[in-house]
Formats: sequence, C-alpha cells, structure tokens
Amino acid sequence: MKQILKKLKLNHLQYQNNQLFIENVNVSALAKKHGTPLYVYSEHAFLNPLKELQKALQPLSYTICFAMKSNSNLQILKLLKKNGCGIDTVSGGELFRCEKAKIPGKDIVLSGVGKSESELKYALNYRDTGIRSINVESEGELELLQKIAKKEKKKVKIALRFNPNINAKTHPYLSTGLKKEKFGLDKNEILNLTKKWHQFPDLELQGLSIHIGSQIFEMKPLKDAFLETKNFLLQLKERGFPIKMVDLGGGLGVKYDASNNKEKVMSIPEYGKVICSIFKNMGKDFHVCIEPGRTLSGNAGILLTKVLYEKKRGGKSFLIIDGSMSELIRPALYQAHHEIIPAILQGTKTQNTDVVGPVCESGDFLALDRDFPKSRPNDVLAVLSAGAYGMTMSSHYNTRPKPAEILVSKNKSKVIRKRETYEDLIKGE
Ligand SMILES: *Cc1c(COP(=O)(O)O)cnc(C)c1O
Repeated sequence: MKQILKKLKLNHLQYQNNQLFIENVNVSALAKKHGTPLYVYSEHAFLNPLKELQKALQPLSYTICFAMKSNSNLQILKLLKKNGCGIDTVSGGELFRCEKAKIPGKDIVLSGVGKSESELKYALNYRDTGIRSINVESEGELELLQKIAKKEKKKVKIALRFNPNINAKTHPYLSTGLKKEKFGLDKNEILNLTKKWHQFPDLELQGLSIHIGSQIFEMKPLKDAFLETKNFLLQLKERGFPIKMVDLGGGLGVKYDASNNKEKVMSIPEYGKVICSIFKNMGKDFHVCIEPGRTLSGNAGILLTKVLYEKKRGGKSFLIIDGSMSELIRPALYQAHHEIIPAILQGTKTQNTDVVGPVCESGDFLALDRDFPKSRPNDVLAVLSAGAYGMTMSSHYNTRPKPAEILVSKNKSKVIRKRETYEDLIKGE
C-alpha cells in the first residue's frame, strides 16, 4: 500500500502507525465525523502542480485557466484564484460558479461545442467586462455571437478552436483533436471563415485555441499540435488579424494505476519548456493560456467509502462498499483504474476481489479482480486520485444523495460542501 502511494507520487498521503493521513489529518477520523462516501481534497496537492506550472511558464505572459469541469467546488475555485489561477469554463452554470467565486473576467475562458444563446450572452456581459476569450467552435456559433454582440453593442474577444487532426493517443472518449470528432474547426474551415470576416465586425479574432484530449502521456502529439497552431497563427497574422493569444488546452495525463508502466507522467518543467520555446518569439504582447484540469485536481482528491458486506460465491469474492458509480463513474464510463487502499493497515493478507457499489448495475464497480487486503464490514477504504471528474460527474442515480466534500490544509479540515439530504433530492419536483 505504501508502495502504491510512492509509485503514484502522492506525497500528501502517508501512513503513520498504519493509519492513513491526508496532509496531517487522519482519514478514519474524517470518515467517522462526516460519514461516507466522502470526498476529501488536499490543498497542498492542488497548489503544488499549479506552482510548478507557474514556474515553468514564467518567461511568458500567461494565464493558467483551471478546467473547472474536473472539480468545480466554489472553495476550490477561490483557493486557486487566491494563488493566481484563472478558470476554463464550458457552460453558463460554470460561469455562474466563477461569478460566485469572484473570478475576474480577464482570467476566464469559455470553451464548448454547443454554447447556447443565453450562455454566450452571459459570457459577453460577465461582470460588465466580458471574459478573456470565448473559444468559438463553429460557423453557426460565430454568426449567433455576432448577432448578440451587435444587439448588446459590445466588442467581443474570441479565439477559434482549431482541430489540428492530431491523435492524442488516449482513450477514445478522451480524444478531442481528430477530424472525426465533434470539436473545433479544421484549417480549411477557419481559412474560409477568415475570408468573410467582414460579416463579423464586432468579433475580435485574437487567436486560436486547441485541446486535443485528456490523459495524454506523450509530449509528441502535444508538441506537434502546438507547432501546427503556431504556424497557423503566423499565417492568420499575415492576413491582417491582430493575433495576440493562444490557448493550448489541457490534457496532461495523471498516473492512476501504480503497476501500469505506460502511465508515465510528463514532467511539468519539460512541458513548460516546449511551450516557451515554441511561443516565446511571438512578440511581447502575446499571451499564452493553458487549461489544465486533471493536472491540478486529479491527485488532490480521495473518495472515502466504507465496507458494507463481504460476499463470496464459488471462487469469487465481492467487497460491497457504500461508494458507487453514482459518486465516481470513471471506472464504469472509461474502464478507468483507481487504486484503493485501506484507511488502517492491518496485516498483510490479501485476497482477490471485486470492489463493487450498491447501485443496481453490473457496471457499478470501483475495482475488478484486485488483490486487496482482507477487509471487514465498517473498514474505511480510500479510492485514490479521485479529485478530477469525480464529484463533478457524480449523479443521483438510485436516488442517492451526493456526498459531502472536505478540504484539508495541514492539520485543518473544513466542510466545503454539505452532504445532501433526502429533502435536497426532491427539491423542484
Ligand atoms: C476537459 C478540457 C480541459 C481539461 O482537460 P484535462 O485533461 O483535465 O486537463 C481543458 N480544455 C478543454 C477545452 C476541455 O474540454
């Protein structure tokens, strides 16, 4: 178990006298006090990669826009804002969260393949100033945005989302930079649009945005996409567009599976170096945005759950826990691997087991066929690397109230979202 923490480089988690701690807070005590299932985040783990990225991009004029779809808790947004981070949004609801967290418009970008009229209007009028960039993904969106801008008498800063047709070599559901995928505009489409830019007098084309996928472990596809984008920016500049920015998306992979050697995490300094070397000579007013999601949030969270029952049939063993696909859908949705470790180490005996939830679906598992320490009812387990796309992808399926969220800093912990009640579940019905 200690080996797993080491291999995943989860420095904010460690066993002291066989008890699991997140920073300096005992995980079992949190489970006892707040109940399970329970999301717990480490402040340190959020800020560490942020600081690394900030250092790596130092030579540039840059904004790091955290992809809040990976973790959108208001207190997390406030924490990141306090530490110099901006936000990448993909919906009106996310803009609303930004407003509540008092994120300035200049630190926000809006992406998404299907923004509605009201969402575009929201972005354009966000705190009067609008936002840094609306990343437009289709001709229809451009036409709609122009119509809104004219009506609202605003000039709007936009980037076009460029689909470079580059294979990010990740899970097919996580790839977004191929022509066959719904995202962005290809080179010809963008060139054709620029030819009729007189139709969009209130839209200022300041640059391009890309995001070729998520859970990427190789620098090469990213570097290829960056180079392609830079050349394209220069081409647009030549055509007279006042090019001032690029948004390079997110996508850096996080290690989830301690024994999978293919999950070799890219070094942030290396990543920064590649970005700086490609974009440093774009002029002194040129601005680079990146949109890391999982890089900041992935390792920062754990999901605490409790063993309810142990069940044996034939040669097979099931550990039935109180966490499920309703709280963490990644295993069911992407066949994702999450390491699971006990909150208290007792003995070295292991057995092969499936770790499954109470939800009525055979896809409701958190681990299959895993050699796992022998556990008993009421034992607390920690599902690791659950900070990204965990709570934000959770659902009420089987009418399960959403779990509470806790933020830990050193020896302090605070509730940053209350556990839902049954009453909360029927609100609005
Ligand atoms: C999801 C998404 C991101 C973040 O992806 P990660 O893999 O979590 O870093 C960034 N930009 C856009 C446009 C996205 O859709």
